[in-house]
Amino acid sequence: MNLHEYQAKALLARAGVPVPRGSVVLAAGDIERAVSEVGGPVWVVKAQIHAGGRGKGGGVKVTRSPQDAAKAAHQILGMNLVTRQTGPKGKDVHRVYIEQGADIARELYFSVLLDRATSRVTLMGSTEGGMDIEEVAAHSPEKLVRVSIDPITGMQPFHARKLAFALGLKGSELKTGVPLMMAAYKAYMECDASLIEINPLAVTKDGNVIALDAKITIDDSALYRQSAINAMRDETEENAAELRAQRASINYVKLDGDIGCLVNGAGLAMATMDLIKHHGGEPANFLDIGGGAPKERVVEAFNIILADPNVKGILVNIFAGINRCDIIAEGVVAATKEVQMKVPLVVRLEGTNVEEGRRILADSKLSIIAADGLADAAEKIVSATRGVA
Ligand code: ADP
Ligand code: MG
Repeated sequence: MNLHEYQAKALLARAGVPVPRGSVVLAAGDIERAVSEVGGPVWVVKAQIHAGGRGKGGGVKVTRSPQDAAKAAHQILGMNLVTRQTGPKGKDVHRVYIEQGADIARELYFSVLLDRATSRVTLMGSTEGGMDIEEVAAHSPEKLVRVSIDPITGMQPFHARKLAFALGLKGSELKTGVPLMMAAYKAYMECDASLIEINPLAVTKDGNVIALDAKITIDDSALYRQSAINAMRDETEENAAELRAQRASINYVKLDGDIGCLVNGAGLAMATMDLIKHHGGEPANFLDIGGGAPKERVVEAFNIILADPNVKGILVNIFAGINRCDIIAEGVVAATKEVQMKVPLVVRLEGTNVEEGRRILADSKLSIIAADGLADAAEKIVSATRGVA
């Protein structure tokens, strides 16, 4: 799960990371209050969307009077912001953060993340901050410094000093920079984050180090014990279909093809997509209904698949172990009636209660194309959807 910058900064501040004073605005009527609360003399007005590159896209404005700050906030709130991370459609801005402007001497890059190659939490830093870090990684990888942390000792001051020296921090900058890094690591651990990225980490002209931007990604598997963070979720930033699936305990990922897939088990769902592609088709989604799926979940899975206007046909592929073919079949029949299926439907059932499942489908008199085995199913759905407008 991703957080907004202002939420990330609140979590970081609580752990002891210095951030500018700021105030979030959710409605235009609140702008003047926020501007006076922040208090200047420089106000930075920042669009809150789950995407970076806001500065270059016009979503970050530095202003020097309360009037200009309010004007910028009115402009940004409600705008459609296109950045290199949003795609061409951009994102509508529903929240604006107004914060004090810092007097920047240098912009650095700093992050805490899980390095899967070493299985260790790793600090990453670069003197090339503020800009696209992917660019730096691609073109001058030597400018990215990594310090990996032994899980037995956890982060120690020497880890922070090593990175701070590599980033060129000196004197008073070290006195704020080193504790800042320690605090960021603490926040990473306490929040069950998988990424904390501070870009830029700014060195100010008076020799302090401060987080001017913040991105935090929380490990979804830990959300059950992070209820306060889970409550920060901004559903308007998430894919509606994926959110709906999550609520129904369905694993769903939207893709760009036109063949909807309803499968049990992540591995089988991957294999199903492979076979569809092998036979010349393109899957519209990954969908795993999980084990022991009740009828209602099967119906909801159909609803989610069919809400995608690209879908020209559906392949149901069930290898029932914990699941039961009869219950899946009941779900298929109920869904077909409920949503008035207009696209071809190929069903392959195997496993627990398969005879009963097949009988339910046959008795339903619905136009369901039965398949025998996975390859046959993939072939049938590809040919059934081919040429469908
Ligand atoms: P994004 O990464 O989405 O472009 P940032 O928060 O990094 O957004 O802001 C872009 C740039 O705006 C920063 O690199 C920095 O130069 C400037 N900036 C952001 N916040 C402040 C601030 N509080 N004070 C001064 N400059 C800022
Ligand atoms: Mg940034």
